[in-house]
Amino acid sequence: AGTLYLVPTPIGNLEDITFRALNVMKTVAVIASEDTRNTQKLLNHFEITTKQVSFHEHNTQERIPQFIKWLKDGTSIAQVSDAGMPSISDPGKELVQACIAAGITVVPLPGANAALTGLIASGLAPQPFFFWGFLPRKPKEQKTTLTQLKSYSATLIFYESPYRIVKTLENLIAVLGGDRQVVLARELTKRYEEFIRGSLTTVLAEMTSRTIKGEFVILVAGASEVEAPTLVLTDEQVRQAVAELI
Ligand code: SAM
Repeated sequence: AGTLYLVPTPIGNLEDITFRALNVMKTVAVIASEDTRNTQKLLNHFEITTKQVSFHEHNTQERIPQFIKWLKDGTSIAQVSDAGMPSISDPGKELVQACIAAGITVVPLPGANAALTGLIASGLAPQPFFFWGFLPRKPKEQKTTLTQLKSYSATLIFYESPYRIVKTLENLIAVLGGDRQVVLARELTKRYEEFIRGSLTTVLAEMTSRTIKGEFVILVAGASEVEAPTLVLTDEQVRQAVAELI
C-alpha cells in the first residue's frame, strides 16, 4: 500500500521548507493540496512537477474514499495545506482518521507552524500552552469560549484574521480583564515580522491607533496563581482537617 505523508509548507518564508519535504513532494505520485494554484507557486519555485489534486473543506467527503482507494492500490500521497502544518486549523484530520481506520501508514513531517513559531519568541511561558486556533466569530460564542479558558494557567494561543483582531482584543479584555499580558506575533518569518507585547489594554490601544495588516497569532499569558481560584480555610477548619489526619 501507499503512504500518506503530511507535509508542512512555509508560513511566509520559502526557505522554511525542509529537504525532506521537498523530496517527499518530488517522489510521491500525487500532492493533495488545499489550494492547487497556491501550492503550484511553491512547486514551481522548487522545480517540482508532481501532479496535484485539490483537497479542501468543501470536497473532503468525496476525496477521502478516492484517496483511500489510491493508497490501497500502492499510490503514495503528500497532503499539504496553504501554509504551515496540515490539520492545524487546516484540512487534514478526516483524511488522517480514514487512513488510520483503513490501516494505511501515516507519516508526519516536522516543519513550519505559526503557533509554535510565535510561542518561542513571545517571552510567555512556553509550557504549558493551550492551542485553541480560531475562536468562534460570533461575539457571544467567543465570550463563552473565553470564559471557559479564563482560569487556565497555560499560555493561550489563538489564530485570528487581521479584520477581527481589535474586536477579539476587546472581548479578551471583557472576559479576562485588561491586565493580562498578551503578545501579537505578526507576519512571522516575513519581512515585516513583529512582536507587539504588553497588557491587553496597552496592546488594544496600539492596535486601534494603526492600520492593521498581515497575519497574526495571539498569545495570552495564562491565569496567574493570584487569579486562579484559591481554597480559603478558616483556622478552625485547618485544625479540624489536621485532627482528622492524626
Ligand atoms: N496550518 C497553519 C499552521 O500550522 O500554523 C495555520 C493555518 S490557519 C488557516 C492561518 C492562520 O495562522 C492565520 O490566520 C494566522 O492566525 C496564522 N498564521 C499563519 N501564518 C502566519 C504568519 N506568517 N504570521 C502570523 N500568523 C500566521
